[in-house]
Amino acid sequence: MPIFETIKRSSQTKARLGILTTNHSKIKTPAFFPVATQGAIKGLFIKDVEDIGIKGVLVNIYHLYLRPGIEVIEELGGIHRFMNFSGTVISDSGGYQVFSLETFRRLRDDGVEFQSHIDGSSKFFSPQGVIISQLRIGSDIVIPLDECVRLPVDKDRANIAVERTIRWAKLSKEIFENNKREGTIFLGVVQGANFLDLREKCLEELLKLGIDGIAIGGLSVGEPAEIRYNVISFLTDKIKNDYLCYFMGYGKPQDIIEAVERGIDLFDCVIPTRMARTGTAFSSYGKLVIRNSPYTKDSSPIDDTCDCYVCKNFTRGYLRHLINVKEISGVQLLTYHNLWWYNKFIEKIQRAIEEDNFLQFKQDFLKKFKVE
Ligand SMILES: [Zn+2]
Repeated sequence: MPIFETIKRSSQTKARLGILTTNHSKIKTPAFFPVATQGAIKGLFIKDVEDIGIKGVLVNIYHLYLRPGIEVIEELGGIHRFMNFSGTVISDSGGYQVFSLETFRRLRDDGVEFQSHIDGSSKFFSPQGVIISQLRIGSDIVIPLDECVRLPVDKDRANIAVERTIRWAKLSKEIFENNKREGTIFLGVVQGANFLDLREKCLEELLKLGIDGIAIGGLSVGEPAEIRYNVISFLTDKIKNDYLCYFMGYGKPQDIIEAVERGIDLFDCVIPTRMARTGTAFSSYGKLVIRNSPYTKDSSPIDDTCDCYVCKNFTRGYLRHLINVKEISGVQLLTYHNLWWYNKFIEKIQRAIEEDNFLQFKQDFLKKFKVE
Protein backbone atom coordinates (compact mmCIF):
# COMPACT_ATOMS: atom_id res chain seq x y z
CA MET A 1 0.00 0.00 0.00
CA PRO A 2 1.44 3.40 -0.92
CA ILE A 3 2.07 5.80 1.93
CA PHE A 4 0.81 8.69 -0.11
CA GLU A 5 -1.03 8.91 -3.37
CA THR A 6 -2.54 11.75 -5.30
CA ILE A 7 -6.10 10.93 -6.31
CA LYS A 8 -7.12 14.12 -8.05
CA ARG A 9 -5.42 17.24 -9.37
CA SER A 10 -6.95 20.65 -9.93
CA SER A 11 -6.91 21.53 -13.63
CA GLN A 12 -6.26 25.25 -13.00
CA THR A 13 -3.70 25.10 -10.17
CA LYS A 14 -1.30 22.70 -8.48
CA ALA A 15 -3.82 21.93 -5.72
CA ARG A 16 -4.21 18.19 -5.29
CA LEU A 17 -6.29 15.73 -3.36
CA GLY A 18 -4.44 12.84 -1.80
CA ILE A 19 -4.61 9.97 0.65
CA LEU A 20 -1.98 9.64 3.35
CA THR A 21 -1.89 6.21 4.98
CA THR A 22 -0.17 5.88 8.34
CA ASN A 23 -0.15 3.11 10.92
CA HIS A 24 -3.06 4.81 12.68
CA SER A 25 -5.27 6.43 10.07
CA LYS A 26 -6.07 7.13 6.47
CA ILE A 27 -6.09 10.86 5.97
CA LYS A 28 -7.52 12.78 3.10
CA THR A 29 -5.24 15.65 2.09
CA PRO A 30 -4.92 18.64 2.07
CA ALA A 31 -4.99 18.15 5.83
CA PHE A 32 -4.40 20.30 8.88
CA PHE A 33 -2.94 18.94 12.12
CA PRO A 34 -3.37 20.94 15.32
CA VAL A 35 -0.38 21.15 17.61
CA ALA A 36 -0.15 19.02 20.74
CA THR A 37 3.30 20.21 21.80
CA GLN A 38 3.23 18.58 25.23
CA GLY A 39 1.10 15.60 24.23
CA ALA A 40 -2.20 17.47 24.59
CA ILE A 41 -4.30 19.88 22.58
CA LYS A 42 -4.32 22.81 24.97
CA GLY A 43 -7.77 23.49 26.36
CA LEU A 44 -9.53 20.44 24.94
CA PHE A 45 -10.22 16.82 25.85
CA ILE A 46 -8.73 14.45 23.30
CA LYS A 47 -12.22 12.93 23.00
CA ASP A 48 -13.46 16.28 21.67
CA VAL A 49 -10.53 16.49 19.27
CA GLU A 50 -11.54 13.12 17.85
CA ASP A 51 -15.25 14.00 17.80
CA ILE A 52 -14.44 17.07 15.71
CA GLY A 53 -12.91 14.72 13.15
CA ILE A 54 -9.24 15.60 13.60
CA LYS A 55 -7.20 12.74 12.15
CA GLY A 56 -3.74 13.78 13.27
CA VAL A 57 -1.74 15.95 15.66
CA LEU A 58 1.84 17.15 15.94
CA VAL A 59 3.85 16.57 19.12
CA ASN A 60 7.25 18.02 19.89
CA ILE A 61 10.22 15.87 20.80
CA TYR A 62 12.11 18.76 22.42
CA HIS A 63 9.35 19.29 24.97
CA LEU A 64 8.52 15.60 25.50
CA TYR A 65 12.20 14.75 25.92
CA LEU A 66 12.51 17.32 28.71
CA ARG A 67 9.17 16.46 30.31
CA PRO A 68 8.08 13.77 31.07
CA GLY A 69 11.05 12.10 29.29
CA ILE A 70 11.00 9.62 26.42
CA GLU A 71 11.29 6.59 28.72
CA VAL A 72 8.16 7.62 30.64
CA ILE A 73 6.05 7.77 27.48
CA GLU A 74 7.55 4.49 26.29
CA GLU A 75 6.78 2.78 29.59
CA LEU A 76 3.23 4.08 29.53
CA GLY A 77 2.60 2.43 26.19
CA GLY A 78 3.77 5.01 23.64
CA ILE A 79 2.41 8.39 22.65
CA HIS A 80 -0.99 7.16 21.35
CA ARG A 81 -1.77 5.27 24.54
CA PHE A 82 -0.26 8.06 26.66
CA MET A 83 -2.60 10.68 25.12
CA ASN A 84 -5.37 8.21 24.33
CA PHE A 85 -5.37 9.37 20.72
CA SER A 86 -6.19 6.90 17.98
CA GLY A 87 -5.20 9.09 15.03
CA THR A 88 -1.86 9.91 13.44
CA VAL A 89 0.97 11.47 15.41
CA ILE A 90 3.76 13.42 13.74
CA SER A 91 6.69 14.20 15.96
CA ASP A 92 8.75 17.25 15.27
CA SER A 93 12.47 16.74 15.82
CA GLY A 94 12.71 19.67 18.22
CA GLY A 95 15.42 21.24 16.04
CA TYR A 96 13.45 24.41 15.55
CA GLN A 97 12.95 24.78 19.33
CA VAL A 98 16.62 24.15 20.05
CA PHE A 99 17.74 26.65 17.41
CA SER A 100 15.29 29.24 18.73
CA LEU A 101 16.48 28.93 22.34
CA GLU A 102 17.59 32.20 23.85
CA THR A 103 19.75 30.33 26.33
CA PHE A 104 23.03 28.60 25.53
CA ARG A 105 23.33 26.32 22.53
CA ARG A 106 26.34 25.11 20.58
CA LEU A 107 26.20 23.55 17.16
CA ARG A 108 28.54 20.63 16.57
CA ASP A 109 29.00 18.40 13.56
CA ASP A 110 27.52 15.49 15.47
CA GLY A 111 24.55 17.38 16.93
CA VAL A 112 23.62 20.32 19.07
CA GLU A 113 24.32 21.05 22.73
CA PHE A 114 21.81 23.15 24.54
CA GLN A 115 20.53 24.19 27.93
CA SER A 116 17.10 23.06 29.03
CA HIS A 117 14.78 26.06 29.29
CA ILE A 118 13.25 24.41 32.36
CA ASP A 119 16.16 23.85 34.74
CA GLY A 120 19.22 25.06 32.80
CA SER A 121 20.76 21.57 32.71
CA SER A 122 22.89 20.78 29.67
CA LYS A 123 21.52 18.44 27.03
CA PHE A 124 22.64 17.10 23.70
CA PHE A 125 20.60 16.19 20.62
CA SER A 126 22.21 14.04 17.96
CA PRO A 127 20.46 13.24 14.67
CA GLN A 128 20.42 9.56 15.64
CA GLY A 129 19.15 10.17 19.18
CA VAL A 130 16.29 12.34 17.93
CA ILE A 131 15.09 9.59 15.55
CA ILE A 132 15.36 6.94 18.24
CA SER A 133 13.31 9.13 20.62
CA GLN A 134 10.58 9.49 17.99
CA LEU A 135 10.54 5.75 17.33
CA ARG A 136 10.49 4.95 21.05
CA ILE A 137 7.34 6.99 21.60
CA GLY A 138 5.75 5.24 18.59
CA SER A 139 5.30 8.26 16.36
CA ASP A 140 3.70 7.60 12.93
CA ILE A 141 5.66 10.25 11.06
CA VAL A 142 9.20 11.10 12.09
CA ILE A 143 11.24 14.15 11.19
CA PRO A 144 15.03 14.23 11.28
CA LEU A 145 17.02 16.89 13.07
CA ASP A 146 17.94 19.70 10.70
CA GLU A 147 19.61 23.07 10.92
CA CYS A 148 17.23 25.94 10.56
CA VAL A 149 18.77 29.35 9.83
CA ARG A 150 17.09 32.69 10.33
CA LEU A 151 16.29 34.83 7.32
CA PRO A 152 17.83 36.93 5.93
CA VAL A 153 21.01 34.86 5.67
CA ASP A 154 23.95 34.96 3.26
CA LYS A 155 24.38 32.12 0.82
CA ASP A 156 27.54 30.66 2.34
CA ARG A 157 25.91 30.36 5.72
CA ALA A 158 22.74 28.89 4.18
CA ASN A 159 24.87 26.36 2.32
CA ILE A 160 26.60 25.22 5.51
CA ALA A 161 23.17 24.62 7.06
CA VAL A 162 22.01 22.69 3.98
CA GLU A 163 25.09 20.48 4.04
CA ARG A 164 24.67 19.79 7.72
CA THR A 165 20.95 19.07 7.19
CA ILE A 166 21.81 16.56 4.43
CA ARG A 167 24.54 14.90 6.49
CA TRP A 168 22.23 14.58 9.47
CA ALA A 169 19.40 13.28 7.28
CA LYS A 170 21.66 10.46 6.05
CA LEU A 171 22.59 9.46 9.61
CA SER A 172 18.92 9.73 10.59
CA LYS A 173 17.69 7.56 7.73
CA GLU A 174 20.27 4.90 8.52
CA ILE A 175 19.27 4.57 12.15
CA PHE A 176 15.60 4.80 11.16
CA GLU A 177 15.91 1.82 8.78
CA ASN A 178 17.55 -0.28 11.49
CA ASN A 179 15.00 0.51 14.17
CA LYS A 180 11.71 1.45 12.54
CA ARG A 181 8.37 -0.14 13.01
CA GLU A 182 6.91 -1.14 9.61
CA GLY A 183 4.73 1.60 8.19
CA THR A 184 6.41 4.49 10.00
CA ILE A 185 6.90 7.44 7.69
CA PHE A 186 10.19 9.32 7.34
CA LEU A 187 10.13 12.86 5.96
CA GLY A 188 13.13 14.84 4.80
CA VAL A 189 13.40 18.49 5.80
CA VAL A 190 14.29 20.72 2.87
CA GLN A 191 16.34 23.75 3.93
CA GLY A 192 18.14 26.32 1.79
CA ALA A 193 16.58 29.65 2.82
CA ASN A 194 15.54 31.69 -0.24
CA PHE A 195 18.26 30.21 -2.52
CA LEU A 196 16.52 27.96 -5.02
CA ASP A 197 19.72 26.17 -6.06
CA LEU A 198 20.38 25.28 -2.42
CA ARG A 199 16.78 24.12 -2.00
CA GLU A 200 17.22 21.96 -5.10
CA LYS A 201 20.47 20.47 -3.85
CA CYS A 202 18.89 19.67 -0.50
CA LEU A 203 15.81 18.12 -2.12
CA GLU A 204 17.82 15.96 -4.52
CA GLU A 205 20.09 14.61 -1.79
CA LEU A 206 17.09 13.82 0.40
CA LEU A 207 15.26 12.03 -2.41
CA LYS A 208 18.31 9.80 -2.90
CA LEU A 209 17.87 8.59 0.68
CA GLY A 210 14.45 7.15 -0.07
CA ILE A 211 12.34 9.53 2.00
CA ASP A 212 8.54 9.24 1.99
CA GLY A 213 7.88 12.92 1.55
CA ILE A 214 9.24 16.36 2.25
CA ALA A 215 8.77 18.85 5.02
CA ILE A 216 9.55 22.39 3.97
CA GLY A 217 11.58 24.03 6.70
CA GLY A 218 13.03 27.45 7.35
CA LEU A 219 10.05 29.40 6.06
CA SER A 220 7.22 31.26 7.72
CA VAL A 221 9.80 33.03 9.85
CA GLY A 222 8.85 36.55 8.84
CA GLU A 223 10.05 36.52 5.21
CA PRO A 224 8.05 38.30 2.47
CA ALA A 225 5.25 36.13 1.06
CA GLU A 226 6.78 36.31 -2.41
CA ILE A 227 9.93 34.48 -1.27
CA ARG A 228 7.82 31.85 0.47
CA TYR A 229 5.60 31.22 -2.57
CA ASN A 230 8.65 31.06 -4.81
CA VAL A 231 10.27 28.35 -2.71
CA ILE A 232 7.04 26.35 -2.36
CA SER A 233 6.29 26.43 -6.09
CA PHE A 234 9.86 25.55 -6.97
CA LEU A 235 9.84 22.50 -4.69
CA THR A 236 6.37 21.22 -5.55
CA ASP A 237 7.28 21.46 -9.26
CA LYS A 238 10.03 18.95 -8.60
CA ILE A 239 8.02 16.56 -6.44
CA LYS A 240 6.30 13.56 -7.92
CA ASN A 241 2.73 12.48 -7.26
CA ASP A 242 3.63 9.99 -4.58
CA TYR A 243 5.56 12.32 -2.29
CA LEU A 244 3.79 14.09 0.53
CA CYS A 245 4.53 17.84 0.77
CA TYR A 246 4.28 19.18 4.29
CA PHE A 247 4.67 22.84 5.17
CA MET A 248 5.74 22.98 8.79
CA GLY A 249 4.31 25.50 11.22
CA TYR A 250 2.11 27.32 8.75
CA GLY A 251 -1.59 27.79 9.05
CA LYS A 252 -3.55 31.04 8.72
CA PRO A 253 -6.60 30.25 6.58
CA GLN A 254 -5.56 32.59 3.75
CA ASP A 255 -2.02 31.14 3.85
CA ILE A 256 -3.31 27.58 3.68
CA ILE A 257 -5.29 28.44 0.55
CA GLU A 258 -2.23 30.00 -1.13
CA ALA A 259 -0.04 27.02 -0.22
CA VAL A 260 -2.61 24.42 -1.32
CA GLU A 261 -2.83 26.25 -4.63
CA ARG A 262 0.92 25.70 -4.95
CA GLY A 263 0.77 21.98 -4.19
CA ILE A 264 1.10 21.61 -0.40
CA ASP A 265 -0.69 18.62 1.19
CA LEU A 266 -0.17 18.95 4.92
CA PHE A 267 -0.09 21.73 7.51
CA ASP A 268 0.31 22.12 11.24
CA CYS A 269 -0.04 25.29 13.24
CA VAL A 270 -0.73 26.56 16.74
CA ILE A 271 -2.99 29.34 15.43
CA PRO A 272 -6.52 27.94 16.02
CA THR A 273 -5.76 26.74 19.55
CA ARG A 274 -3.52 29.65 20.57
CA MET A 275 -6.01 32.21 19.26
CA ALA A 276 -8.77 30.54 21.26
CA ARG A 277 -6.74 31.02 24.43
CA THR A 278 -6.49 34.74 23.78
CA GLY A 279 -10.25 35.02 23.19
CA THR A 280 -10.24 35.03 19.39
CA ALA A 281 -12.55 32.90 17.25
CA PHE A 282 -12.47 32.12 13.54
CA SER A 283 -15.52 32.75 11.42
CA SER A 284 -16.27 32.82 7.73
CA TYR A 285 -16.07 36.63 7.99
CA GLY A 286 -12.59 36.64 9.50
CA LYS A 287 -11.25 36.61 13.03
CA LEU A 288 -13.57 37.67 15.82
CA VAL A 289 -11.98 39.05 18.99
CA ILE A 290 -14.78 37.78 21.16
CA ARG A 291 -13.40 39.31 24.36
CA ASN A 292 -14.05 42.83 23.01
CA SER A 293 -16.86 44.98 24.37
CA PRO A 294 -19.09 45.16 21.24
CA TYR A 295 -20.02 41.54 21.91
CA THR A 296 -21.24 42.09 25.49
CA LYS A 297 -24.93 41.77 24.63
CA ASP A 298 -24.52 40.00 21.31
CA SER A 299 -27.02 37.15 21.15
CA SER A 300 -25.69 35.63 17.92
CA PRO A 301 -23.39 32.62 17.68
CA ILE A 302 -19.69 33.05 16.78
CA ASP A 303 -20.46 32.11 13.18
CA ASP A 304 -24.03 31.71 11.94
CA THR A 305 -22.82 29.31 9.24
CA CYS A 306 -21.03 27.01 11.73
CA ASP A 307 -22.90 23.97 13.03
CA CYS A 308 -20.56 23.08 15.89
CA TYR A 309 -21.76 22.43 19.45
CA VAL A 310 -20.59 25.89 20.56
CA CYS A 311 -22.33 27.83 17.77
CA LYS A 312 -25.53 25.83 18.23
CA ASN A 313 -25.72 26.52 21.96
CA PHE A 314 -23.89 29.66 23.07
CA THR A 315 -24.02 33.38 22.33
CA ARG A 316 -21.07 35.65 21.67
CA GLY A 317 -22.10 37.55 24.81
CA TYR A 318 -21.81 34.45 27.00
CA LEU A 319 -18.49 33.37 25.48
CA ARG A 320 -17.13 36.90 25.94
CA HIS A 321 -18.15 36.76 29.58
CA LEU A 322 -16.40 33.40 30.12
CA ILE A 323 -13.18 34.66 28.53
CA ASN A 324 -13.26 37.91 30.50
CA VAL A 325 -13.70 36.24 33.87
CA LYS A 326 -11.12 33.64 32.87
CA GLU A 327 -13.44 30.66 33.14
CA ILE A 328 -11.59 27.61 31.80
CA SER A 329 -14.67 26.58 29.84
CA GLY A 330 -14.38 29.79 27.78
CA VAL A 331 -11.06 28.63 26.36
CA GLN A 332 -12.40 25.12 25.97
CA LEU A 333 -15.45 26.28 23.99
CA LEU A 334 -13.47 28.63 21.74
CA THR A 335 -10.84 25.95 21.07
CA TYR A 336 -13.58 23.49 20.19
CA HIS A 337 -15.18 25.94 17.76
CA ASN A 338 -11.84 26.97 16.20
CA LEU A 339 -10.77 23.39 15.51
CA TRP A 340 -14.21 22.51 14.19
CA TRP A 341 -14.11 25.59 11.96
CA TYR A 342 -10.62 24.68 10.67
CA ASN A 343 -11.70 21.13 10.00
CA LYS A 344 -14.71 22.30 7.96
CA PHE A 345 -12.52 24.83 6.16
CA ILE A 346 -10.16 22.04 5.11
CA GLU A 347 -13.11 19.89 4.02
CA LYS A 348 -14.32 22.76 1.83
CA ILE A 349 -10.88 22.98 0.23
CA GLN A 350 -10.95 19.23 -0.44
CA ARG A 351 -14.41 19.50 -1.97
CA ALA A 352 -13.32 22.39 -4.18
CA ILE A 353 -10.43 20.31 -5.55
CA GLU A 354 -12.73 17.32 -5.94
CA GLU A 355 -15.21 19.41 -7.95
CA ASP A 356 -12.35 21.17 -9.74
CA ASN A 357 -13.40 24.67 -8.76
CA PHE A 358 -10.57 25.57 -6.42
CA LEU A 359 -9.97 29.06 -7.81
CA GLN A 360 -13.65 29.92 -7.51
CA PHE A 361 -13.62 28.67 -3.92
CA LYS A 362 -10.53 30.77 -3.18
CA GLN A 363 -12.14 33.88 -4.61
CA ASP A 364 -15.42 33.37 -2.73
CA PHE A 365 -13.67 32.58 0.53
CA LEU A 366 -11.32 35.56 0.42
CA LYS A 367 -14.10 37.94 -0.55
CA LYS A 368 -15.88 37.13 2.69
CA PHE A 369 -12.98 36.36 5.03
CA LYS A 370 -11.54 39.65 6.27
CA VAL A 371 -7.74 39.53 6.48
CA GLU A 372 -6.30 42.28 8.64
ZN1 LIG B 1 -18.82 26.95 15.73
